Amino acid sequence: MVYQPDENRYQRMAFRRCGQNGLKLPAISLGLWHNFGDTTQVENSRALLQRAFDLGITHFDLANNYGPPPGSAERNFGRLLQEDFLPWRDELIISTKAGYTMWEGPYGDWGSRKYLIASLDQSLKRMGLEYVDIFYHHRPDPETPLQETMKALDHIVRQGKALYVGLSNYPADRAREAIDILNDLGTPCLIHQPKYSMFERWVEDELLEMLQEKGVGSIAFSPLAGGQLTDRYLNGIPADSRAASGSRFLNPDQLTAGKLETVRQLNTLAEKRGQKLSQMALAWILRNDNVTSVLIGASKTTQIEDAVGMLANRHFTDQECADIDNILNS
Ligand code: NDP
Repeated sequence: MVYQPDENRYQRMAFRRCGQNGLKLPAISLGLWHNFGDTTQVENSRALLQRAFDLGITHFDLANNYGPPPGSAERNFGRLLQEDFLPWRDELIISTKAGYTMWEGPYGDWGSRKYLIASLDQSLKRMGLEYVDIFYHHRPDPETPLQETMKALDHIVRQGKALYVGLSNYPADRAREAIDILNDLGTPCLIHQPKYSMFERWVEDELLEMLQEKGVGSIAFSPLAGGQLTDRYLNGIPADSRAASGSRFLNPDQLTAGKLETVRQLNTLAEKRGQKLSQMALAWILRNDNVTSVLIGASKTTQIEDAVGMLANRHFTDQECADIDNILNS
């Protein structure tokens, strides 16, 4: 059956301006790092994208290496885009990235002009797109001059292969330098994509303030710490969970008794607020106006519904914020 999106899709979602730019992003965006590779049934991936778009999630985030195997998430997304979403291309913000190892030899990694331009061409082919909305440099390269990497991003925008560019995983000082270079080149940086959750708060030290000062947006990746900041692991490790999947990014050893005790206390606080822990964890990130969007992952459509349900209760009292800090610091 031909997919028809929900007519009310824009009534539930909140859209937030990306820094001082014209673009607005949904408060919740969907990442395709997991559950879109060749090891996932394509019908599950299709259901996730459709449910997300029906609920007003207009932003899908990819990278050249998402899979497994690397490249397959873009290829599978391209197929679903052709089959279901092509009439709505102009309602979507599609991002991809290059910066991690993608192919063998010296030109398939890091931040050279050679790598970034070739990688984006490959990504566009895999997705069947003429342009992406946002192209990111995925991680800072300690060896390539920043000027070269930023000039490559500027070139890509001027070629029309990306509408905007962004940085990911850049520490504050390097990001500031990159943003200044991009401004000088006439291609302002749209957004920074850092890891940010209750368990990883490094962005609060300096990065978010600097981005606000420069008018650059931000999108927090892994806001649920890969599922740890949910009720998923409160009664053991479910067979269909990320921690049980053999992922090197979330393994059972990380779910220590101390970590689970913290999660239990946060869960109790969320219940008092009348929401799930996953919802409180997302709302807590968005309490900060400097954060444009939370970039979630999902293996089930119900998880996307949970995330969007959070929008009904985003306010925190000072006492609740203090309680969360106390739990996280204990
Ligand atoms: P999250 O922290 O949101 O973790 C998502 C996982 O949490 C889901 O796959 C699911 O795991 C579990 N989960 C989600 N909702 C619920 C719920 N309501 N109840 C219980 N469990 C839930 O994000 P990810 O780590 O997946 O990262 C999100 C995106 O961020 C990526 O897809 C990618 O786009 C981006 N990213 C960017 C990086 C970068 O370097 N720029 C690096 C990493 C990610 P389960 O499988 O157990 O169901």
